[in-house]
Amino acid sequence: MAPSVPSLLPPPWTAATMARTWRHATAEGRTFDVCVVGAGITGAGVAREAALRGLSTLVLERRDVAFGTSSRSSRLVHGGVRYLEQGDLGLVYEALAERTILLRTAPGLVSPDRFLFAVHRGDRRPLWQLRLGLALYDVLSGFAGKSERLPAEDTRRREPLLSSPDLAGAVVYDDARTDDARLCLSVLQDARRHGAWVQTRREVHRLSRTREAWCIETDDGIVRARCVVVATGPFTDQRLLGPAGRGLVQRSKGVHLVFRHRDVPVRGPVVLEVPRRKRIVFVVPWANRTYVGTTDTPYEGDPDAVGVTRDDVAELLAVVRPRLPNARLVPEAIVGAYAGLRPLVRAGDTGDVADVSRTHRIVEPQPGCLAIVGGKLTTHRRMAEDVLVRVARHLGIPFRRGVSARRPLVPDASHLGPVSPFEAADLPARHGALAPLLAARARSDPALARPVVPDLPVLEVEIEHALAYEGCVHLDDLVRRRLPLALLDTRACLEAAPRLARRLVASAGRPPGDADAEVERLAEAITREVGAAIPGTRPTESGPISAP
Ligand SMILES: Cc1cc2nc3c(=O)[nH]c(=O)nc-3n(C[C@H](O)[C@H](O)[C@H](O)COP(=O)(O)OP(=O)(O)OC[C@H]3O[C@@H](n4cnc5c(N)ncnc54)[C@H](O)[C@@H]3O)c2cc1C
Repeated sequence: MAPSVPSLLPPPWTAATMARTWRHATAEGRTFDVCVVGAGITGAGVAREAALRGLSTLVLERRDVAFGTSSRSSRLVHGGVRYLEQGDLGLVYEALAERTILLRTAPGLVSPDRFLFAVHRGDRRPLWQLRLGLALYDVLSGFAGKSERLPAEDTRRREPLLSSPDLAGAVVYDDARTDDARLCLSVLQDARRHGAWVQTRREVHRLSRTREAWCIETDDGIVRARCVVVATGPFTDQRLLGPAGRGLVQRSKGVHLVFRHRDVPVRGPVVLEVPRRKRIVFVVPWANRTYVGTTDTPYEGDPDAVGVTRDDVAELLAVVRPRLPNARLVPEAIVGAYAGLRPLVRAGDTGDVADVSRTHRIVEPQPGCLAIVGGKLTTHRRMAEDVLVRVARHLGIPFRRGVSARRPLVPDASHLGPVSPFEAADLPARHGALAPLLAARARSDPALARPVVPDLPVLEVEIEHALAYEGCVHLDDLVRRRLPLALLDTRACLEAAPRLARRLVASAGRPPGDADAEVERLAEAITREVGAAIPGTRPTESGPISAP
């Protein structure tokens, strides 16, 4: 399949367009060059690298884009200060190089920020040691950042919320932030612009091999590909990979809590050490909210059942509260929460999962069948290149690294004007260089310029765009991964759900009665993930939530 000409808007993407392409994908005699299983950041990265080289590429995702870990991270594009301590300088260097590339190729969607790493008396690391570590971080970034030591007095002036009498000082350093689910979506959109096909709600059940190709079996059809890449993150097991998949990943659960910014009014991202553990917690302002995370605990259960427990909430609050005594860090103040699973490379018994390396691993149980686990959101591009080296070898084609490092991830729409008057809506943080396109559309129609939910910085124009171009099938795709409504304010999102569900089903040409089922489905998903942490999200507690 030849790559299509890149345009400003991605090709339309709805349930109907996916149904149409599925008929072609499963047609007798059709063989893709590459089939990627899983549309998290890892699968998206592989699909983009393949499509950029003109390989015919199909992505099959069991649920939705970024459904797994890729919408549940700390939302940082970073070298990983913590990995310095593990002596993983190679990983830090590589991740910092990827950070530089993403800041250049995805401006707005990935944005620089100054992080303040606070040190308190009794912390494992004294201030001088942290200063030294972050100076090394500057060096490894090629001096893309410049860290600075602050005494306690200056730290308090800069971040008044750090009011504990134990504060010893801080080191301020450079890193970057993103919207994880939208970064993943943007990578996939670029793959689609170059001809890749993406199918969501297509679970792969079995891989088998004929002499010519791999057969990838789903519920409603078989597709064929010369190479298959399994990028199923924490869901990786022996079902698709046989014995090679057994014990490949070690899952570690991480939880984040979201508060109103007025309750936790940090001025910028703050990093705190977890007492007696080799872990840190981030407290990050996000629009008019602040999120706090993360935990890092081994997880052996069903990956589909991961959720925020009361113990997770208690653990996080116990770390942060003494350091930010004037913040309203109480369970009743939580407005959003999420839990994700790190798909770590299993490496024997390391004791603490926080010590397990965040590098990635590629296995090839049979020729042309590859699986990749581990890694980070930040390093997805590099991981994908490593996979493509093997894919190219299998297909017998040349491969050159660095193609994706030079091209913009999102097309530049700046000629359409500024994002004003919608700066507060944070459009660039979700749409990157495409934000002026949405702003221009919102300027042309006042109804599209309104916030979807009062108090949340998400505009109606983003709903219109998501329904036409971003492959939303169900309501939770829209409010959880295309737009962060459910994360920013779960209860407000549930209140708006009936109206949004009616728009979703109308835009898909489905019967109006489907809206109730969509709301019910969303409420169930939310209750499963955060019901224990956010009072009032259970339908029984909040009253009926179906459409009036
Ligand atoms: C709490 C936490 C915080 C983190 N913070 C950061 C951070 O700040 N910065 C950073 O760089 N990294 C961070 N990470 C790491 C990063 O988020 C993950 O490494 C990354 O998202 C993993 O992506 P993935 O695509 O491998 O897995 P996933 O995102 O889980 O994607 C796997 C996909 O495969 C699909 N799938 C599974 N089985 C099948 C099947 N049979 N058929 C079809 N599809 C299937 C799933 O539905 C899923 O969508 C964090 C991780 C966690 C848990």
